[in-house]
Amino acid sequence: MRLPGDDALGSANARLGTRFWIYPQPPFIPGYEQPDRVWLSIPRDEIGEGPSDLTVYVVDPLVDKQPYGFNQFPPFDGAKRLPAMPGPDRHFDNLSPNSRAFLSVHAYACVRFVLDIWQSYLGHPIRWFFAQTFPRLEIIAFVNWDNAHAGYGFLELGCSDVEGIRRPYALNFDTIAHEIGHIILLSETGIPTAPLRDSDFFAFSEAFSDVVSLISFLQFDSAIDRLLRRTRGNLLLYNELNRFAETSPETQIRLATNFRRMSETTREVHDRALPFIGAIFDTIVELYHRELVERDCADTRLLDFDIRDLEQDEFDRFRQMTAAAFQVKPMFFRLALTAARDAVGQALAGALPTLDPDTLRLDQAANAVISAASGATAELLEANFAWREIISQR
Ligand SMILES: [Zn+2]
Repeated sequence: MRLPGDDALGSANARLGTRFWIYPQPPFIPGYEQPDRVWLSIPRDEIGEGPSDLTVYVVDPLVDKQPYGFNQFPPFDGAKRLPAMPGPDRHFDNLSPNSRAFLSVHAYACVRFVLDIWQSYLGHPIRWFFAQTFPRLEIIAFVNWDNAHAGYGFLELGCSDVEGIRRPYALNFDTIAHEIGHIILLSETGIPTAPLRDSDFFAFSEAFSDVVSLISFLQFDSAIDRLLRRTRGNLLLYNELNRFAETSPETQIRLATNFRRMSETTREVHDRALPFIGAIFDTIVELYHRELVERDCADTRLLDFDIRDLEQDEFDRFRQMTAAAFQVKPMFFRLALTAARDAVGQALAGALPTLDPDTLRLDQAANAVISAASGATAELLEANFAWREIISQR
């Protein structure tokens, strides 16, 4: 039955955004077997089959495609599988997660989800660094290759192969967020054209991309909820945050909860990125503690300790108190964590326009992030970057 005004209502609803499913962690991670339903900001009437829109499109090659190499660029012009289609309501939450088309839809949703977050922090739309050549980012949903990479105009997703079990990176939010992190950085700073020999741009790019992955993961309500319930509010415990790169194609497992300082790193870019990632992670945790103390959910003495250096009895005391408070008022814990996440995310985004990709050093990047922060966030960032030997003690 059609009622008068149906059309007007329909078009207003179409502007509300579009529904998708995303797995916050790959579905083989215990506790994450079910995807979350998310709303992306892009209106339904702006997404076509594929999915595709004005700046992003997905293709799924019909035959084994060779990954793009040096000097190979999109568009992919080989035979393609049929594009994924939306449901009758034009949302994309209609497909079975076991279908091949789901890979395309999931990869697209992850990319758009990360863009929504970082455009919010940046305060403007992200314009691809390759936009003059390619107006749209091409996502290759699946290639038979144990890697994932982003480049000039493309994001290409293979599959990990662990003891014969193949897991498509199209279902791995962390991997996609990391690769989009590289693209966001280049899009904001421009491409290095004549980098100085001791430029840290590529090390910073790895650090930034891991942090994009981490902070984007923390946007899932279900992930925050699970994380806090599992740790009973105590983020000093081992938790999901530091698992975010576990099947990363980039050889190492990069831990956000590392204790590395600059004097302990090599020149290898992923290794050199670790102290920066650690400083960001510690800042989020310490800001979270401050928020908890302000909301009377944690002992104020928690702020007096170096979290990297807690004795077992101190640790036990804090754990008991946060667990008791979490039992009574879990909502404040969620608020504390999202506030900490956003303060740091905003500072990172705010720093990007000031960075010069040719001459960038990690201490400059750190100082830019501190300058883009305010109050307690800036203070904690400064202390943590200093502890990591990225900037000198002031
Ligand atoms: Zn990377």
